[in-house]
Amino acid sequence: MYSDDSEALSDEQWISWFTSQSGNHLFCEVEKSYIEDSFNLFGLKQYLSSTGDFNKAMSQILDKIDPNEPETEELNRSAALLYGLIHSRYILTPRGLDCMYHKYMRKDFGECTRMLCKGQAVIPMGCADDPNHGMVKLFCPRCRNVYNCSNQFRHIDGAFFGPTFPNLFFMNFEDVVPDVSLEKFIPRVFGFRIHSSSKSLPKQPEKRTQGSDNNGDDDNGHNKNSSSKQICESTLKEETDTLSTKRKRKE
Ligand SMILES: [Zn+2]
Repeated sequence: MYSDDSEALSDEQWISWFTSQSGNHLFCEVEKSYIEDSFNLFGLKQYLSSTGDFNKAMSQILDKIDPNEPETEELNRSAALLYGLIHSRYILTPRGLDCMYHKYMRKDFGECTRMLCKGQAVIPMGCADDPNHGMVKLFCPRCRNVYNCSNQFRHIDGAFFGPTFPNLFFMNFEDVVPDVSLEKFIPRVFGFRIHSSSKSLPKQPEKRTQGSDNNGDDDNGHNKNSSSKQICESTLKEETDTLSTKRKRKE
């Protein structure tokens, strides 16, 4: 997957090459000085199969790989995994957040597919800090929903962004928090609204009683019954509630 442009590797740095690969524009370029600081790498060795693999992956990322070392698919895969894990930490730092801010403002991450969000920029996130717990998702701050990504991002682990990132991002950049979308899609037949008693409409959820399960179904039916969605939504719900409270206080 990452070895289709191996010639370019000799001319440019690995990080630039990696972030220019198809779908990898979700990543920002992590500064080498951040990667070289061993404090920032604490605990990451466990995710690679051996210390040797970790060291080789580090050398690959920092362009210090032995020229006699054969470049393999496995080496690039290890480097991509390690880079992704470092990336998830970097984007929580002021410089990383700043880098992602520019990407968000350019809509590098794309727009919400919900019609009523009217092209709202979205932001990548994961549902877990550990890899192999689901692919990257996109969070829309206007409808406050989390969406599965298109196929071009299906190879990107959600842990490369993590569940904290979108929350911290909007806490840092309150000015770009959009107003919540209150508009709802109204289904019509020949121009007439469908009566609320019609069986063609989805059933309204029963009134929640205190202590009942609160998984937060969305209006659009995205990813219902998915455990990762429950994690994502509960995390984001708390955060968006905090942001709303903050904004009210500001007003
Ligand atoms: Zn939206």
